[in-house]
Parts: sequence; C-alpha cells; structure tokens
Amino acid sequence: MCVRALQAGFLRMCVMGDWITFPNGKKGRRAWENDTHRVAAWQSLLRSAHDVLPRPFCDCRHHGHNLELVVRRTVRKERGQLAEAYHLARMPRQGGLHYIDCPFHEVDPRQSGQAAYAPGVVQEMSDGSLRVALRRGLAIRDVAQAPSTIERDSARDSAAGRRAARPRQSRMTELGLLHLLWEKSGTNSWHRGIGRARMWWPGVRQRVMNAASDIMVGRGCPLGEYLVLIGYGDEDGPALLREKAQSCGQNWRMLLLGKVDSLRTLRSRPKPGQPGRPYTSLRFDGAQDYHLMVSASEDWLTRLSRRFPRAMHALDQERADRKIGVIGLVTANVQIRRDGTKLSVMAWADDIALMEVEPETLIPVESGYELQITRALVEAKRAFTKPLRFDAGNDVVHPDFILTDTHDPRGTPMEVFGRDDDRYLTRKAEKVAYYEEVYGVRHWWSWDVACSPRQWPPFPPAAPDGQGDEDE
Ligand SMILES: [Zn+2]
Repeated sequence: MCVRALQAGFLRMCVMGDWITFPNGKKGRRAWENDTHRVAAWQSLLRSAHDVLPRPFCDCRHHGHNLELVVRRTVRKERGQLAEAYHLARMPRQGGLHYIDCPFHEVDPRQSGQAAYAPGVVQEMSDGSLRVALRRGLAIRDVAQAPSTIERDSARDSAAGRRAARPRQSRMTELGLLHLLWEKSGTNSWHRGIGRARMWWPGVRQRVMNAASDIMVGRGCPLGEYLVLIGYGDEDGPALLREKAQSCGQNWRMLLLGKVDSLRTLRSRPKPGQPGRPYTSLRFDGAQDYHLMVSASEDWLTRLSRRFPRAMHALDQERADRKIGVIGLVTANVQIRRDGTKLSVMAWADDIALMEVEPETLIPVESGYELQITRALVEAKRAFTKPLRFDAGNDVVHPDFILTDTHDPRGTPMEVFGRDDDRYLTRKAEKVAYYEEVYGVRHWWSWDVACSPRQWPPFPPAAPDGQGDEDE
C-alpha cells in the first residue's frame, strides 16, 4: 500500500471526545496533532498555553473539577530544520483519575507486569516525567548489572521444574523498556477511530518519540536523545538516524526500534588466509532507505530463539505467510561509515528484545489465541487495552486485555485460558478467584480454550454512544 493512501486513512480518523479546552477559551482536538491541515493551529494553541497558568484541561472531572494537563516543549529536526514542537501530558499521579476512554487515562500499574518491579525502578517525578533504572546504562562504559532477568528466570524455572518465588525485579531490561514505550505512547490500546493509522509509520514514530521525551534514563537524560525509530515510508527517518548516530558518537549507545524484517546468520567476507566469520544480522522493515546495518555476535540467534520462540518462528516464514509482526528494540554501539558520498550507519548490538504484535494494529499478543481475540475485537469495533508483561514472570496477575468501552469505569478484564496442565490450572484458579473478588462474577470475561477450542463466549456489550472514539 502506498504511503499517501495510508496517510489519507490516518487523517480520515473519526474522533470524538478528545476536546481540550485552553486557558484563552479556545478549544482544540488532540487528533489535530496528526492532521497536516490543522497541526499548525494546534501547535499554536499549545505554544500559547506553554508555561502559563491556568492550564488546559480535558473533559474528565474529579471532585467537581476538570483535570488539568501540562504542555511540554521539545526541539526536533524536520526536513533538515530545527523545529520546536509541543505536546500535552497529564499531571503527575493523575493517570488513574482520567476516564478510561480518555487518551490521558493510565492503566493502574497493578494491572500490568509493572507491578513486579521493586520500588524505584519506575518512578514518577514531580513534573510528571518517568524515571527508570535500566539494567544497563546507555553510556558505552556501562556494563549490564546482571544477566537478563528473563533468561535467568526461565533457566531457574526449568531447572526447578516448578514456579519459583522470585524477588521483585530491581532493574528494567530492554524488553521492559520496549513495553514501557508501547504503553506510554498508547500503542497497546485500540479503538475504532484509529483505523489504518497504525500502518503509517511516521505517525507511530511521533507518538513513541513523544513518550520517550517524557522518560528519563540515567541522570536526567530523556530517552528520546538516544532512541531512533526505523520504519517504512518515513521520509524524515534516515536523516534523524544519521543525526542521532553522530550525536551519540563514541560515548553513548543508541536504541533502534522498528518492525523486524529478518534475523539470520551471515558470514563476513573472507580475508586472505582467514575464512569469513559468522554473525547475526538483523534487518528492520523499510531499512533500505536508511543504509543501516545491524549486527550482533553469532550466539544471539540461539538466545533469541530460546527467549522469543514465537517471534523467531514467524521470522523464519516467508513475509506473506507471517501471521504476526515482530517489533525489535536493539541497544547498539553505532558508527557512521563514509564511502564517497554515501553515509552508512553500522550498529553492533549489545542487546535485542523482541515483541510479537498483530501486524496491522501493532497490539502486542502473547499467543495465537490472543491474536484471534485481538482480530475479533478490532472486527467488532471495540475499544481495548493490552496490559503488558514488562519483565514480570508468569506469577503476576494481569488481564490479557481490558475492554475500555463497557459500562464499567474500571474497564472489563478479559482472560484467555489456553492450557490445561496441572500447573496452569492452579494459576487459572488463582486468577478466577482474583477477578471474582475484585470485579464480581459477571464483570469479567474469559475464554477457556480447552473446553471450547473453536468458539469463545460473546464479548461483554459496549456502552452505547460511540465511546472509545477518542483520538489516536
Ligand atoms: Zn481526561
């Protein structure tokens, strides 16, 4: 599909309920930030409200007052020019107060794998930004604190042959960071107004970068300074990559995020008297415009197959046969190589995290059953969120999905029970008891695949009046 058609789909989004009221009395819709005809007016509204009181607010109310929002300013490069850009963020510790169908609503961290981090790993600062403690700092001199918690835990689980009691995670891995970026940018949520927008990469890039500018790593450095998104049909993308590769230079690692097209073993060119050496090569979708080479040591292919078997299985198939998409986050040392007038970026990976997603909506899925439910919810024009696992093990209770368009202001949790071995049945009983106690017998949904492999129960009905039509 051509970029223009995708962009048109993106702009045709039908949006409701995302009106913002500004202190000068004017109103604007958050969706305008992605509308080429209105983005200038939207940015000027935000500029007028930056650093002034009172603040703009959305339509959510708490104790009789509207919930205020903060305007953030970032400087970024567009078509070779420095441009200042503004975006809205919620006030600190108010994520749970926004209505569940408001774009500023935040899922309670207790409903995702975030609950498994030790205190202080993810910290909300007084200005509303987040500070995270990464397993490995981004300065090249930093080394990883510990082997990847997930690899360590799965090794321990298989050694013990049972679920071991885990300490809470004291650092965030690259996979946790990928989940955090997806959650903060709202890319783990869906409503019918989004349409084909998720297939327009520049829009996805902008939202993820906005989220990254509010996440601090190390000593007050915004993650956005080290992150680059690689994707199909993004005309500003290659210049942004070269620029960031230059600014990260010899001292900083860079984070590369995109849809993975292939991961395989290649051999370096043989030198006289020396055979070529095998290495792992990762290729992002759309990478041909970026002159980007991502390599890692040979053993990464085995490590990734062990840690992300479903993603690796999908990448082994022909593109047309893949049922899921794979998003990759690579931490790498980068170098710019100049060959005449051509500049290439060479990236040597320290770490690779993968996440399986439904290919058109980019909603993360953890099994083939979740993929089926995601597609059925999209088809039924429902609004929902996919809580993410972060670095948690299987012992953290969080729903597979939360419907956000039902009558329940907390959302309606959804569980897919996909197995029937003894260990899993114990987990299932724990989850059932939890939902019945917290939500009540009729206020959650589940599909027991072992009992009914072909058909899931009807979804809980949506509230009337087009809820879930907030902006993308
Ligand atoms: Zn709100």
